[in-house]
Amino acid sequence: MSEPALRAEKLDAADDLAPLRSRFVLDGVVYLDGNSLGALPANVPDRVADVVRRQWGELRIRSWEESGWWTAPERIGDRIAPLVGAAPGQIVVGDSTSVNVFKALVAAARMAGEDRTDILVDATTFPTDGYIAESAARMTGRTLRVVTPQEVPAALGPRTAAVLLNHVDYRTGRLHDLPSLTAAIHASGALAVWDLCHSAGALPVGLDEHGVDLAVGCTYKYLNGGPGAPAYLYVRRDLQPRFDSPLPGWNSHADPFGMSPSYTPAPGALRGRVGTPDILSMLALEAALEVWDDVDITAVRAKSLALTDFFLQCVTAYTEPGRVESLTPVPHEERGSQVALRCEDAGEVMKRLIAGGVVGDFRHPDVLRFGFTPLYVSYAETERAARLLANVLT
Ligand SMILES: *Cc1c(COP(=O)(O)O)cnc(C)c1O
Repeated sequence: MSEPALRAEKLDAADDLAPLRSRFVLDGVVYLDGNSLGALPANVPDRVADVVRRQWGELRIRSWEESGWWTAPERIGDRIAPLVGAAPGQIVVGDSTSVNVFKALVAAARMAGEDRTDILVDATTFPTDGYIAESAARMTGRTLRVVTPQEVPAALGPRTAAVLLNHVDYRTGRLHDLPSLTAAIHASGALAVWDLCHSAGALPVGLDEHGVDLAVGCTYKYLNGGPGAPAYLYVRRDLQPRFDSPLPGWNSHADPFGMSPSYTPAPGALRGRVGTPDILSMLALEAALEVWDDVDITAVRAKSLALTDFFLQCVTAYTEPGRVESLTPVPHEERGSQVALRCEDAGEVMKRLIAGGVVGDFRHPDVLRFGFTPLYVSYAETERAARLLANVLT
């Protein structure tokens, strides 16, 4: 056995999170794409079957009450809350991340007031956030300024209404400094809107602790909610009375069954709701979140960093120097839970990795992404992935 393979054995033997693997449906494939679509938690299929056969099939309309369908968005929001450092009552689940970015950013601009004329958006953002920010700025009569997270402090001023940032860069895996950026945004009097798609479930976020104003995130990546699982919206408690949703649907009405022609928003996080929630996906997500019941997110973070460190060490040990270049920052405080490697023919390399039983993904034009989900990725798998990569590259 090679030196890295021996180390992997020891690391797995000492890993307190290793038993969590049994909570997922896994096979012989090394699955390093949980940052795109998390693996299936083992309890989800039976739950979904029950929701379909009994709750829908037998109870039918009664399930809105009796199976808790109506209150699912807030209930499941409260389940996500501890994973992102939020007290209950501040998160609702529903709609896609894209839609929630829209709600959050327009609401932030409205709260900031008319004399604040600029919205700043992360130049390195996942594209959907950028498209929506452009439209939100146009609709609210603001000017959109596109800046990198590093440039944000210098770009802030008395005219800044809101800033939309990604906590972790989806391409490089770079973790941005949420506490200090949020503090700088607040010092200028603007609102901070964070997209947590690539951080929630992989590392502690500390929304309440750091005074984040609004946040959104998806649930199908590190939260393993399933394909197209609904996203979530966080509105800090003291801002909720001023949260003026650009999508005020009947589900966020103070009296939804009053069927009033005029809109009166419900109190609290409920204001983030729009229309009838996507119950099947939402209840699959609820089951998926049970995986986290006794899991400490700081232990998850520690394993995530250990896995990405170990992967980078294995790549260095096995791969000819110069064949790949890591885009992922080395300092832990700047790293999310993925490793991005730039290499020639990355698309072809990833096809061969997948054929060999190592699934990561390819991002145009030359990036290989490997996501490390601490709940179900082992050190032995990490070593195997690096070894196969080296073979494919020679
Ligand atoms: C994955 C991801 C999204 C996805 O948005 P959807 O509306 O769910 O398609 C949005 N933003 C970021 C930063 C992402 O990583």
